[in-house]
Amino acid sequence: DLRVRFAPSPTGYLHIGGARTALFNYLLAKQQGGTYVLRIEDTDVARSTQESVDAILDAMNWLGLSCDEGPFYQSERFGLYKEKVQQLIDEGKAYRCYCTQEELDAKREAAMKEGRKPKYDGTCRNRTDHPDAPYVIRFKLPEGKEEVAFDDRIKGRISVRLEELDDLIVARTDGTPTYNLVVVIDDAEMGINLVIRGDDHVNNTPRQILLYEALGYAVPEFAHVPMILGSDKKRLSKRHGATSVMAYQEEGFLPEAMVNYLVRLGWSYGDEEIFSMDDLIEKFSLDNVGRSAGVFNPEKLLWLNAHYIKTGDPVRLAELLKPFLSAKGIATEQGPDLVEAVKSLQERASTMAEMADGAAFYFVDTVEYEEKAKNKFLKAEQKPVFEAILSELGTCELFNEEQLEAAFAKIMDQTELKFGKVAQPLRVALTGGTASPSIYEVLQVLGKERALARIEQALA
Ligand code: GLU
Repeated sequence: DLRVRFAPSPTGYLHIGGARTALFNYLLAKQQGGTYVLRIEDTDVARSTQESVDAILDAMNWLGLSCDEGPFYQSERFGLYKEKVQQLIDEGKAYRCYCTQEELDAKREAAMKEGRKPKYDGTCRNRTDHPDAPYVIRFKLPEGKEEVAFDDRIKGRISVRLEELDDLIVARTDGTPTYNLVVVIDDAEMGINLVIRGDDHVNNTPRQILLYEALGYAVPEFAHVPMILGSDKKRLSKRHGATSVMAYQEEGFLPEAMVNYLVRLGWSYGDEEIFSMDDLIEKFSLDNVGRSAGVFNPEKLLWLNAHYIKTGDPVRLAELLKPFLSAKGIATEQGPDLVEAVKSLQERASTMAEMADGAAFYFVDTVEYEEKAKNKFLKAEQKPVFEAILSELGTCELFNEEQLEAAFAKIMDQTELKFGKVAQPLRVALTGGTASPSIYEVLQVLGKERALARIEQALA
């Protein structure tokens, strides 16, 4: 059975690239009835924070990528790692290295000067003395093996000659194990049989394979996902906009838009663009993940978000809208029905923040007019129009489409004005500006009492 994992280091928020990796893992596990494990790689005690763990878990939660097992914390597994380091030493596969940083730096510089690739020269490999000095543990490259190779599920065959590698540090002077060792131990002990991760780790994989073999573990399959670039084809960074997943939540993106967007950064399925989580669980495949980097495209994300807002359940959207309105200091309890307001705005908003901007006018006590709109549409000469509007709308028993249309016909008749010349001043009176949902929708959402009060306010 498929067992995959997502293994973030809690040294910051969950970024776009990490979220995409998590999503790919999640989708394959769900598709194949496998298991998706979450492992927090917090061995770097100095840089790992609880705050970051929480931020990552929140983001995973928001995207709907709940794990089947975990979260496991590497910081709770040091005992196991120690045992494995000892095992390597006992079997003659690892050794203490007493070389100081200064010595290593000097050798490194010398190599660079001579145009050689700098790598550890094996000084302490066959050392038998045990000086009373700090040491690291190094993994001895196996002898008599020329190359290490694997078939990456995305990148194809990758092979490295052992002469390109050197004896890797598996434990630091303070005894803490390093990433390449613990990732192997954990993936093996957790039964992971497919490792999907960013291709920034592809160079680590040959070394890790050697460690699997040295520890007597089965080697999993690997799939290294190409990185994500900004529009300038440089590695995605803050210069290109927010890289934190939760920043998008704060800007008013919906998780389904984010998921849909993330999966398409690297995976394609014909010309289709819109995929629900269920579609993805059915259709996702590593075979359709491209070898070239995905390019981050904020307009596309916005387009997807607009789509999901347009087609979303208004009751749910109303709930999501509340915090955006409160952030603007807008209370909705006394105003018109929030769900009806949302329905009138779904077609027009690309983000929930934008929807909150567009919804604000519904909930104010006194309409504030935009200066320009006021000067153009709330002039003395428009008084007769407003009086006609007031009296005709006043006779509507119900503010439904049918009665409103009939009232408008009469107003246009009486004033000999075209629809726009009636609707636009009315829109300014009701909303304060010249852009809003259709005038009938605005009237219906506000309801008769509020609408008439606003018209009177404009007349005053
Ligand atoms: N903790 C590593 C990272 O965040 C993950 C490495 C892996 O997936 O093997 O980059």
